[in-house]
Amino acid sequence: MKASVGGYARARDLRHALELLSVAGEAGRVLAGGQSLVAALNMRLTAGDILVDISALGACRGVDDAGDSLRIGALTRHVEIAEDPLVRAHAPMLAEAVGLIAHAAIRNRGTIGGAIAHADPAAEFPACALALGAEFEVESLSGPRTIPAAAFFRDTFETALAPGEILTAVIVPKAAEAEAQVIEEVARRCGDYALAGLCLTRRAGRHRLALFSLGPRPMLAERAMAALDAGDMAGAAAALKAEIDPPSDTQASAAYRRHLAGVLLRRAAARIEGGAA
Ligand SMILES: Cc1cc2nc3c(=O)[nH]c(=O)nc-3n(C[C@H](O)[C@H](O)[C@H](O)COP(=O)(O)OP(=O)(O)OC[C@H]3O[C@@H](n4cnc5c(N)ncnc54)[C@H](O)[C@@H]3O)c2cc1C
Repeated sequence: MKASVGGYARARDLRHALELLSVAGEAGRVLAGGQSLVAALNMRLTAGDILVDISALGACRGVDDAGDSLRIGALTRHVEIAEDPLVRAHAPMLAEAVGLIAHAAIRNRGTIGGAIAHADPAAEFPACALALGAEFEVESLSGPRTIPAAAFFRDTFETALAPGEILTAVIVPKAAEAEAQVIEEVARRCGDYALAGLCLTRRAGRHRLALFSLGPRPMLAERAMAALDAGDMAGAAAALKAEIDPPSDTQASAAYRRHLAGVLLRRAAARIEGGAA
């Protein structure tokens, strides 16, 4: 099937992109790496969109040291995240996550901003952002605003982004001394979306646990985090299984996903205990 597109415009810079979106109104759609959007267009899941191509916005690309945090431009591609020395040193979970996302061709085009804005509940980067306590810089013709990851993901493919807004950067706090960060998932085949996955950090004895493919959106497992902080591994696994409501679909039943969540938590905790970062 061929895509049904209402129009296409390539933005010169951020201001131009925002103006193009404003003119396009409700039909306006940001195009970044195209790895999710073009597939949706080809399947006619969406039609008549006026695509505003932001891929030439150099100011939204690359990783900068911002003191206590990293500023990752929204157009930074997955492959660039995996290879970036700042990311590998200060947010190693993001670099590790790239190895779990799709295949090389998709990692060469897909952008972190696209993955965050798309808000697929099975995607790795949104859960990483939650676990790492990231914030998102967003720009519109009314000016900039910052949205914490914890307030961004509303439902399946639904975010706090308002019409006309563009996600410009992901702000990730740098890992503290001796902080551990791991991501674990189970997928049927290498490169497939995960059947279940989680991101775990431990900073000064406090844990953050974010889940993906275990509900309608990425979420923090607050009760499991509290049990982990108390050093109660069995309690954490039990709390995790109790606080999730995973979907049943053609890939896996809810009961199997719940089982996987417990397995993955034990695996991630063992890596952290073993000193993995
Ligand atoms: C076969 C296949 C397998 C995949 N497997 C995985 C996987 O295992 N894990 C995973 O996480 N992902 C996977 N993906 C998705 C891939 O990572 C995408 O690249 C990513 O989800 C979207 O990034 P993009 O830059 O291509 O965004 P696009 O496809 O260009 O856009 C996606 C959506 O986000 C919006 N958008 C994009 N950028 C912005 C922005 N800066 N501001 C506001 N809105 C924006 C678009 O309007 C669109 O609605 C897979 C894709 C394919 C085709």
